[in-house]
Amino acid sequence: MSKIIAIANQKGGVGKTTTSVNLAACLASLGKKVLLIDIDPQGNTTSGLGINKADVNNCIYDVLINDVSPREAMFETSVPGLTVIPATIQLAGAEIELVPTISRELRLKKSLQQVKDDFDYVLIDCPPSLGILTINSLTAADSVIIPIQCEYYALEGLSQLLNTVRLVQKHLNTSLQIEGVLLTMLDARTNLGIQVIEEVKKYFQQKVYQTIIPRNVRLSEAPSHGQAIITYDSRSKGAEVYLELAKEVIMYEQAAR
Ligand code: ADP
Ligand code: MG
Repeated sequence: MSKIIAIANQKGGVGKTTTSVNLAACLASLGKKVLLIDIDPQGNTTSGLGINKADVNNCIYDVLINDVSPREAMFETSVPGLTVIPATIQLAGAEIELVPTISRELRLKKSLQQVKDDFDYVLIDCPPSLGILTINSLTAADSVIIPIQCEYYALEGLSQLLNTVRLVQKHLNTSLQIEGVLLTMLDARTNLGIQVIEEVKKYFQQKVYQTIIPRNVRLSEAPSHGQAIITYDSRSKGAEVYLELAKEVIMYEQAAR
């Protein structure tokens, strides 16, 4: 059985891409077959895994708009078991091009039906907006992981995100669940971080992952080397915590069965 998880938060810079890339790579390193879909026109997941956008013939845009099979848009990465469907700047046009099409919210879901059973996990790295690309992702997904940055305005904007989740549950995908809330970029030297953790836990309770991602320079360096943290620096704190998160994700799934 495969599980499709969207990584979403309309705020930029909260750790969606870092989490998508590194959770996907860690799940793969634990023996899972993982498909990672970049659905952000910025394509940071794509370049962060060392894919040169000039080499991309078919990207997620072609899957959504031109009915290209997802298989024809897949790239194998240097991490065994991790496959990527890239995004290029072409995807920026999709927001507008999808507007007049029939069942535009269901495009990704329909395409993924052809391939999802080939994978244990399909992760989708969403753009920093609640537009049609994020709606497609939430409609295709079984669940959503919400990364929250441990900073002062952490909870700001979350009600909009949760409202969108509820609307998708009501109209497009009744089985969509919140997989978990992930606290990211904790600076352990400040009290503020601790306060944010308490506030987020009060709000989301047991939905908050026990694993908390600290600030770690190696995590921010890895994308410029086109690598996930486990291949860039397997002994770093960043590699350790994302591996922990992957184990937690697998554990919750086993417990739910
Ligand atoms: P988003 O996809 O939500 O916009 P990113 O994952 O791209 O966020 O993260 C924003 C920036 O913060 C990037 O430059 C990234 O390298 C950096 N970053 C993310 N997580 C961490 C972390 N735990 N420690 C240090 N830097 C991080
Ligand atoms: Mg991103």
